[in-house]
Amino acid sequence: MSQEQKAVPACAPRTLAQANEPARQGAVHTLTILGATGSIGKSTLDLVERNPGMFHVVALTAQTNAAGLAEAAKRARAELAVIGDTACYGELKERLAGTGIKVAAGQRAVVAAASEPADCVMAAIVGAAGIEPTFAAARQGRRLALANKECLVSAGNVFMSAVARWGTELVPVDSEHSAALQALHGAEPESIEQIVLTASGGPFRTWTADRLAAATPEEALRHPNWSMGAKITIDSATLMNKGLELIEAYHLFPVRADQLGVVVHPQSIVHCLVSYTDGSVIAQMSQPDMRTPIALALSWPRRMSAPTPRLDLASIGVLNFEAPDETRFPALRLAREVLRKGGTAPAILNAANEIAVQAFLARRLGFSGIADAVAQTLEAAEGRGLMSEPEALNDILAVDAEARLLAQSVLGS
Ligand code: NAD
Ligand code: MG
Repeated sequence: MSQEQKAVPACAPRTLAQANEPARQGAVHTLTILGATGSIGKSTLDLVERNPGMFHVVALTAQTNAAGLAEAAKRARAELAVIGDTACYGELKERLAGTGIKVAAGQRAVVAAASEPADCVMAAIVGAAGIEPTFAAARQGRRLALANKECLVSAGNVFMSAVARWGTELVPVDSEHSAALQALHGAEPESIEQIVLTASGGPFRTWTADRLAAATPEEALRHPNWSMGAKITIDSATLMNKGLELIEAYHLFPVRADQLGVVVHPQSIVHCLVSYTDGSVIAQMSQPDMRTPIALALSWPRRMSAPTPRLDLASIGVLNFEAPDETRFPALRLAREVLRKGGTAPAILNAANEIAVQAFLARRLGFSGIADAVAQTLEAAEGRGLMSEPEALNDILAVDAEARLLAQSVLGS
């Protein structure tokens, strides 16, 4: 995709750097968390709890964890708790009986919760399941703290033009994009030469291709630096996560695809580097703890306190950087290719990857089979004429559904 093909070429200065409604110091902010029982959801709730009087929680949602959701809703004194899976409604209702917290269930109710007026919605549902609720949250035209990268990957142009139309203030939560937001603050698009995202390299950074082929879910779930949900942890092991993040960065920031790079940095201290036409490079550093970028997304353009371990460079001593190996980790190359192709290609890659990761976690597919399945699904999708230019959310949802079926048939399930 060239810069010209983007829906909103200079989106960053407008939707990222200039707050519509700058954080009002001392005011209570209403907040909704989609995916409240997940890794990002829990970290967000931790910050809410540690900063009493700063936020009023409107709604919390989860998919199946009724116990976790009920507990979180009680602690945060939420107005509303919504469970996606209707089979869990009875349990949620029972657990919240007598608390005065409203309860609801089903995917429509999750979308309705996302639409409840709130100063900020944290979009932290995992996967393409988050697309519709994230759109609903963005439609409010207020602040959207975006963790659900799959929404931006699958629906990039459609999402960014909707965000611009609705005047939504989009603030990224992904650590590399939060870092880029800071390193880009106040920059003129013409002065940006390159944005380089760092990748930890995951648990298999030094493994040979043979050893990789036999990697188990337990090994892949053991991330060296970050504690995250299962899906993104597997994506970090294949480097698909970095590929999804390149696509995410492409839509968020005023750069062309060829201005985006990746460098492997095993310590995960530097999160992103922005180089400028004068030779300057601005990097953001912090300990790998998602509460730092979450705090920034909640308080931008101000800063709030976060109880994360502080960075002590003298005790770390050395920071290493190396080029990514796209032969052992082909997912990164596939993501670059779909970014170049544009249209529905990234949505197909994302859907196929979700199916392949599920199959790997269920031990129906080997580790190296994940990227293979994605490549084969992309090829099959091309043959079926699924590559097109989506115009609306429904086009993306339809392609996502078809790509899932194709991926399942590629996997023989
Ligand atoms: P997670 O698996 O820990 O949590 C996912 C949340 O989504 C849970 O609350 C779950 O109940 C909910 N959910 C799952 N399926 C759903 C469905 N079908 N409908 C509605 N809700 C559903 O995931 P996570 O690690 O917190 O990641 C959330 C998002 O944030 C992902 O898009 C991920 O890529 C992104 N992200 C996460 C991290 C991290 O450190 N965890 C970092 C950067 C970006
Ligand atoms: Mg990231």
